[in-house]
Amino acid sequence: MKKPMMLVLSGPSGVGKGTLGKRLIEEEGFGFSVSCTTRGPRPGEKHGVDYLFITREEFLSRRAANGFLETATVHDEFYGTPREPAERAMAEGRDFLLDIDPQGGVQVMESVPEAVSVFLLPPSWAALEARLRGRGTETEEKIQKRLHNARQEVKYLPRYDYCIVNDDLDEAWRELRGIVRAERLSTKRFLPELD
Ligand code: ADP
Ligand code: 5GP
Repeated sequence: MKKPMMLVLSGPSGVGKGTLGKRLIEEEGFGFSVSCTTRGPRPGEKHGVDYLFITREEFLSRRAANGFLETATVHDEFYGTPREPAERAMAEGRDFLLDIDPQGGVQVMESVPEAVSVFLLPPSWAALEARLRGRGTETEEKIQKRLHNARQEVKYLPRYDYCIVNDDLDEAWRELRGIVRAERLSTKRFLPELD
């Protein structure tokens, strides 16, 4: 019997967390933590799939009821990982992915010390800006806010177990998959009892 892995994936907006996270779900069988957020949906985003889009009032009431594993204010909106699905996935033995900002990442590392944390870096600030613009989901004001916040977020890098520079996407994927496969064999994941 092995303990499942809670994987925290963080990095500046536009670095590629969603793109690489999708491959962890599709190719490595990870469950995905659907976060709550007070920001509005982007075109194509679905309630219950990408996020649970809730009001500030509902967010605050869920937080007061201890309904979140972690919460953070990111780009002026509230975000939080619902506690119940994360705890259920771990109890059922499923590896589980959290795509969350570094403030939330640090909270998870403190409450779940065996969590594995990976920080994604862009190859350059210019590349990050080009990706954010290329995604075409944000207004100019939101792009500027995200680029400004990115410089603060990378200060959390030393708190993370691993760092991947997402330059060539396939190479970054091979590195992430390598981390996951090695971590699945970590002694901390094996329960002591043998049949
Ligand atoms: P995040 O979830 O971190 O905000 P996304 O996964 O949405 O970032 O990626 C932002 C944009 O950058 C998307 O349009 C995505 O297709 C693109 N992208 C991701 N990784 C790379 C890469 N290695 N090279 C070029 N573009 C990339
Ligand atoms: P976006 O609005 O671009 O989807 O996400 C903005 C930032 O919020 C990203 O860094 C993303 O990882 C982070 N984020 C998404 N969900 C959560 C969450 O539940 N908790 C925390 N702390 N951050 C989150």
